[in-house]
Amino acid sequence: MDDFKQIKLMPTVTLRGMTILPDMVIHFDVSRKRSIKAVEKAMLEDQRIFLVTQIDVDDNEPDMEGLYKIGCIASVKQVIKLPNNILRVLVEGEGRGQLEAIIEEEEYILSEVSILKEDTALRLSQLEQEAMVRNLKELFTTYCNENFKVGKEMLRQILEYDDLQKLVDQIIINLSLHFEQKQKMLSAVNLEERYELLTILLSNETEIFKIKKDLQTKIKEKVDKNQREYLLREQQKLIREELGEDNIESEAEQFLEQLKKRKVSKEVKEKIEKEIKRFKSISYNSSESAVIRGYIETLLEMPWNKASKDNTDLRFAKKVLNVEHYGLEKVKERILEFLAVRTLTQMGQSPIICLVGPPGTGKTSIARSVARALGKEYVRISLGGVRDEAEIRGHRRTYVGAMPGRIANGLKQAGVKNPLMLLDEIDKVSSDYKGDTSAALLEVLDSEQNNKFRDHYIELPIDLSDVLFIATANSLQTIPKPLLDRMEIIEVSSYTENEKLHIAKGHLMNKQLLKHGLSQNQLSISDKALASIIRYYTKEAGVRNLERKLGEICRKTARQILENNAKSIKITQTNLEKFLGKKKYRYDMANEKDEIGIVRGLAWTSVGGDTLQIEVNVMPGKGEILLTGQLGDVMKESAKAGISYIRSMSKTYQIEDTFFKENDIHIHIPEGAVPKDGPSAGITMATAMISAITKIPVKASVAMTGEITLRGRVLPIGGLKEKTIAAKNANIKTILVPGKNKKDMDEVPDEIKKDLKIVFVDQMEEVLKEALVQKEDV
Ligand code: ADP
Repeated sequence: MDDFKQIKLMPTVTLRGMTILPDMVIHFDVSRKRSIKAVEKAMLEDQRIFLVTQIDVDDNEPDMEGLYKIGCIASVKQVIKLPNNILRVLVEGEGRGQLEAIIEEEEYILSEVSILKEDTALRLSQLEQEAMVRNLKELFTTYCNENFKVGKEMLRQILEYDDLQKLVDQIIINLSLHFEQKQKMLSAVNLEERYELLTILLSNETEIFKIKKDLQTKIKEKVDKNQREYLLREQQKLIREELGEDNIESEAEQFLEQLKKRKVSKEVKEKIEKEIKRFKSISYNSSESAVIRGYIETLLEMPWNKASKDNTDLRFAKKVLNVEHYGLEKVKERILEFLAVRTLTQMGQSPIICLVGPPGTGKTSIARSVARALGKEYVRISLGGVRDEAEIRGHRRTYVGAMPGRIANGLKQAGVKNPLMLLDEIDKVSSDYKGDTSAALLEVLDSEQNNKFRDHYIELPIDLSDVLFIATANSLQTIPKPLLDRMEIIEVSSYTENEKLHIAKGHLMNKQLLKHGLSQNQLSISDKALASIIRYYTKEAGVRNLERKLGEICRKTARQILENNAKSIKITQTNLEKFLGKKKYRYDMANEKDEIGIVRGLAWTSVGGDTLQIEVNVMPGKGEILLTGQLGDVMKESAKAGISYIRSMSKTYQIEDTFFKENDIHIHIPEGAVPKDGPSAGITMATAMISAITKIPVKASVAMTGEITLRGRVLPIGGLKEKTIAAKNANIKTILVPGKNKKDMDEVPDEIKKDLKIVFVDQMEEVLKEALVQKEDV
């Protein structure tokens, strides 16, 4: 054979800690001078290079003895120069070579390499080959299944090879082997030898993985067991400490004693007795006993039939309500009616009232007053952000750390079966995969079902029919319809500045003085200063920030009294800034002069009313409509309706036929921190467009609200009170309101209507007549 050896002279790189195999594409970095030169030499010739691995990784200049004899002949595909004289070389292995001699080693290693013919499997019969392929595939698959580091994708790709040699070599290339193992594979020139090495390797590795896994599970089991035992022991210790070993009997006796004193239905009594029996039968150190103890305690604490006596004195109730809250007439009236009916009929289902309105308008606090007025216990259940049905209905007792739901818990807290239960922020419950919260609430609120409310933890039906529920919400939109149907909605609207002044003087101030330990003599705030606080330091529908600002003044006053021995502090408009800093808000005032294409609209948001400015520009173009700024979908629709109306009326407004083809219309709503949406800006946008198209200016003193139809009819809108207040604050003189909203005007306080011209409009023509500057006005 030796006679046929083909010998070549090749530049050679000695590799440290790596072996490259035929078919491998890989890059490595070289930094030794001799290696760099060798690569450069190869690049000058036919790109062939001989890569041979050093036996000793740390040997800097190995000779023949320091090198493995079989190496890889590779072609250099790419060379990249890196900083610090390092070359990154990309090579592809082509075949095996045997190192015969090193010819030169001054500049770079040039060696004599005999090319080893790639071995094929010709010696083996077809059947033998097939058997080997199958065996190898099986082995490799088990190996991959045990070794989670090998990706499924790679396995799939490799299993596609059916040629024995390809299969063997691809598996070898893709295994992450130590370089010495790789060198062994490289040295195995004969395919059968390689096959054998590989099968042994795979079997061994698979076995190792299995043993490793076994060991791990065993260790884990051991740890788990230890931990469990430890926890149990600790519990046991605690219980022992708490009870002493024989205390369980006496505890059970105590439970029975307590039960005897309670007036409860037969069903409840039997259930509690049964649990007490179980409690006795369970050994004190079982973890179950703690669970049962908790359960029995909860059952004993539930009010069941215990009720408080309601106040039936209507006059007293009225007094409490009036003293504690200013305004809120509708709520107070409804409560007094309820009380009257109940006194007369001696019973009566409790209504479920839902107070809806912006934050800080006294919804929660009036509910508390109602409880006082009726002499009821008060519990507040905050529903904001509740998503899990179990929070309302409780967890089953099998669940670790189970508790009663919020309703049952609220009842337990109240200690009576007929408290006033405030369901705060009912519009903020949501449902997710853990069950339907609103269905659970429905059962709470449905008078047909709520005398048998089921809590998963309590397991006994709870009677909620005597509970007076009051719910609060900021907006009705997110309350599911069936829930809404069960409740009586009472709207609480924004306060006017004047109302806020009354509330501040009559209520908030006293509350804050008390809270900060001040007397009325020590701090007084002039009416004008109060009005300034309301106007320039708060911008809200309710009075929460106002209360906070008063608190701030009280704090500063308290400090001055103590630090500077001040006797009393008087707050006036002049010294207000010293206490509260610079004014925070300015109101969006009416436009200063009449302008073309700019109209002020009135908007309602969940936090009160606001004005918004709509701008329209017309410019030469291709008939496109551009909408930008804070526009919701409904607003976009109504802008389009407005355009259709204008186009259909182009004769009336003397707009040329070609206008809409040759011009673009751009509608924009600048600023606005609270996003606004809804159809009520319809007439505002239409007016702005007509003004921009006809170049007739719009009166700066006018603001408007109303939905528009394609035929130019003006449809009614909601939130009139809020919008009117916003218009007044913005110094608007005239507001245009849909004719159909006339009846709602009663809600708007006279102080707001006083200096405001309110024009009712039913048609777009009327809007334009009022809003556009007429020739005779000029
Ligand atoms: P809401 O529940 O509507 O968000 P709160 O009940 O928390 O509002 O009210 C905020 C504060 O304002 C409370 O201190 C409350 O007493 C006070 N308040 C609100 N409205 C009135 C009112 N009409 N009269 C007296 N105080 C009020």
